[in-house]
Amino acid sequence: MTTYNAPVEEMMFLFDHLKDNKNYNEIEKFKEINSELVKDILIQAAKLNQEVIHPLAKIGDEKPCIYENGIVRSPPGYKEAYKKFINEGWTSLSCDPKYGGQGMPKTVSTFFEEMLSSASLSFKLYSELSIGAYNCILQHADEKIKTTFLPKIVEGKWSGTMCLTESQCGTDLGLIKTKALKQKDGSFSLSGQKIFITSGDHDLTENIIHLVLAKIPGSPEGTKGISLFLVPKFNVNDDGEVGTRNGVSTLSIETKMGIKGSPTCVLNFDNAKGFLIGKENKGLSSMFTMMNLERIIVGIQGLGIAETAFQNSVAYAKERKQGKSNNNADNKTDAILKHADIRRSLMNMKSIIEGQRSLAFWLSQQVDVSLNHPNKEIKKEAEEIVSLMTPVIKSFFSDSGMEITNEAIQVFGGYGYTKDQGIEQLYRDNRITPIYEGTNSVQAIDLVFRKVLNNKILNKFIKIINNEIDNNQSNNDLKNFSNILKKNVKTLTDFSNWLEEKNKNKKDDVSSACNDFLKVLGYISLGFAWFKMTKVSLKKTNENKNFYEEKINTAKYYFEKISPRIESHYNSAISGSESLMKAKFN
Ligand SMILES: Cc1cc2nc3c(=O)[nH]c(=O)nc-3n(C[C@H](O)[C@H](O)[C@H](O)COP(=O)(O)OP(=O)(O)OC[C@H]3O[C@@H](n4cnc5c(N)ncnc54)[C@H](O)[C@@H]3O)c2cc1C
Repeated sequence: MTTYNAPVEEMMFLFDHLKDNKNYNEIEKFKEINSELVKDILIQAAKLNQEVIHPLAKIGDEKPCIYENGIVRSPPGYKEAYKKFINEGWTSLSCDPKYGGQGMPKTVSTFFEEMLSSASLSFKLYSELSIGAYNCILQHADEKIKTTFLPKIVEGKWSGTMCLTESQCGTDLGLIKTKALKQKDGSFSLSGQKIFITSGDHDLTENIIHLVLAKIPGSPEGTKGISLFLVPKFNVNDDGEVGTRNGVSTLSIETKMGIKGSPTCVLNFDNAKGFLIGKENKGLSSMFTMMNLERIIVGIQGLGIAETAFQNSVAYAKERKQGKSNNNADNKTDAILKHADIRRSLMNMKSIIEGQRSLAFWLSQQVDVSLNHPNKEIKKEAEEIVSLMTPVIKSFFSDSGMEITNEAIQVFGGYGYTKDQGIEQLYRDNRITPIYEGTNSVQAIDLVFRKVLNNKILNKFIKIINNEIDNNQSNNDLKNFSNILKKNVKTLTDFSNWLEEKNKNKKDDVSSACNDFLKVLGYISLGFAWFKMTKVSLKKTNENKNFYEEKINTAKYYFEKISPRIESHYNSAISGSESLMKAKFN
């Protein structure tokens, strides 16, 4: 079985030294969220994740969810752990105090999301969609729905789902067939089938609140005619308690390659009572509230799983003895940690993980500004940056999770491939993250066509990076890094100009370049994150020598060994699409 130690020191380093967004620091209600409080929360969170949740990862894999006579049962131990989880108030961490939440900023809750992902993604998924549903209801529902449903969701007594997918439509939601008929009392009656619904049914909560996309007869074709409905598993009585069973039933659950402790359900809606959320035919944009925040969290899932893979790889590399290293002095067999190639694997992992954690922290500040800043202009600017970076965090982090879990299997050799050490499970569990919440390729297409070619948000992000470089011009210790970052930003600008040009008459060139562009933006964003961490670390080497020298060395590794990937993606992309479009696949 794997082990997990929550990286509290790493997280506190970010909270203490990189909470540098002026707009974030102006948000009144977050001024009292100080270092001491956050450390306290993270220590409690670490204890829960290490001791209670992490052991459930293996159990869920070996004894997956069971479907019996229409009922879904969670793996052994999940019920007890979930009870503890909600009793300690973890579902409410970032929710509004008005509905029973603790009102913590994303800068704090994102750390918690990472820990949960590291400990057990399957267990995490039971509460994850609840927070997504909470956000969607909070922003789009009327006050009656909010007061009826939000307090129970925040408390964790009721959970949430997101019901988009049907057998004929995954990426293309315009093909949805589920129907919603308006009733005399203003409610709707929903009929249809949804597939692949995470936590669609289970035995951890007394009610499940489904957010369902459906079409009202007579509405426009395609995505313009989709509405959003809240459909509870059990109807809710006037006193706010659970009443009769609604017309939602579970037909089956999927047998999957990973996240086996999480039920993925086929749900039937047979004249199920539902309530419209937001306006008719505007369902997709309301659902995007849930999906956009969810997409960032899927990226964090990749980061969390990668962290567990990294920690276990380091531990194994210290213990496993094979061969002699180049500097072997005593003629005894060395730990594989001494071999340069193993160190290369570990440094790939470390430099990407620490860079991504820092980037996620930076983006969390932007999310907090976009949700809470009193100034509309500032709020909007932060929203734009969040919208640019959402597909990057989702895809780049989840793809890196695949690279890192794959590399971890390699460090373990044959013991990585066999089941005992639990490393192969990390690879299998992470494999869903590039697929759900919109596949990574579709995220890359969204990034390029909607966010780079259609508006100028990218230029604003480039300006932020350039300002950071310019403001540190006089710092000679940062010179090497700023030179590389400057060169990379130039490549990014050349790349976006190339996209603009090709978009005029060679769309296939653009479409085939989207994945490469997302990677380029991802690696440059990590360079930006490393640049900021290095700036702080250079000033601090007298305080905690080991920690800060290690940071500076890892930054050096990132800029020398990882950032050259940027040029390779760029060169591949600008070679165009001729050969791939010409292929016949006979
Ligand atoms: C374990 C699990 C949990 C899930 N949880 C949920 C959930 O809670 N709620 C929910 O609603 N759904 C859920 N899903 C569904 C998931 O979101 C979809 O599987 C995913 O969005 C992809 O849809 P699809 O499987 O139909 O693939 P398709 O849309 O058929 O895509 C197949 C391939 O074609 C590519 N492709 C599609 N369109 C384009 C295009 N325009 N241009 C280029 N390439 C394209 C895709 O990138 C992909 O590689 C879950 C799925 C799984 C496996």
